[in-house]
Amino acid sequence: MLYQAEGIILSQTDLGEYDKTVTIFTREEGMVKAVVKGARRAKAKLGALTQPFTHGLFQLWRGRSMDRVIQVAVKASHGGLMEDYARMVYAGYLAELLLELIPQREKNETQFLFFRSVLDCLERKEDPWPVVRWAELGILSEAGFGPSFSHCVICGKMPDGPSFTFSMKHGGIVCENCHSRAWSQAGGGHEEAAVLKVNGDSAGYKSPDSEFFIISPGSRKTLEILLDEARNSIIPGDALPCPRITAKGKVRSEVGRLVKRYVSFVLEKRLKSMDLVESIEDDGAMNH
Ligand SMILES: [Zn+2]
Repeated sequence: MLYQAEGIILSQTDLGEYDKTVTIFTREEGMVKAVVKGARRAKAKLGALTQPFTHGLFQLWRGRSMDRVIQVAVKASHGGLMEDYARMVYAGYLAELLLELIPQREKNETQFLFFRSVLDCLERKEDPWPVVRWAELGILSEAGFGPSFSHCVICGKMPDGPSFTFSMKHGGIVCENCHSRAWSQAGGGHEEAAVLKVNGDSAGYKSPDSEFFIISPGSRKTLEILLDEARNSIIPGDALPCPRITAKGKVRSEVGRLVKRYVSFVLEKRLKSMDLVESIEDDGAMNH
């Protein structure tokens, strides 16, 4: 049976001698795996039209075990992502994040519309960094792992002070009281002894199990705004606004490290593309 779906190609793998399989994130059916017959033959038009990050209208044949791509009307090839190394790495990373979080054949139109805007912003914005942080937070939120940066995630109080503690397990900022309680529940002993400095970066501390992450007020505010902008953006519509906020120096480094660590925590694994992401970010060396 033939059907049509709006979709974005997230990944491709070779299949046999001449074919390939693609994973398409579709608006109508969620993640769909499909074969592109003859995609790797010389001058295969369909092969060229089914490159990663291509956004288009797909004609698909519903197969018993796997679907087949019959035709594509390209809406945006996102060639700009492939011409810039950092943007290409970021797009691959966000695609991997989606592939990990989203089950096959489960419609999630809001997530689709958000990711469609993410790719457009990633291609268009001069600095891709805020787009990636906004995307990570938005994708996690929509998948049910939205962190909280505006108040203590346990007691709801607004913490105050020269620094804020983020709990990976609770998915948000925790106030000092709740932190002490959470610390002992996490098996922490003497707090002073257990808090370790990470590569001399005074702002980033971690417990032995990386459960807590300390950030500055500037980083907390930046994260709160990025998350708000991601949530506001998630409404069906044609043009969703790209994030307006950005960050520099220490705040950029803290925000990036916190969100990346939270991504690994939520997935309970390190994404394959994480090494590449860290290699292109200033704070890359501090993550090891
Ligand atoms: Zn609290």
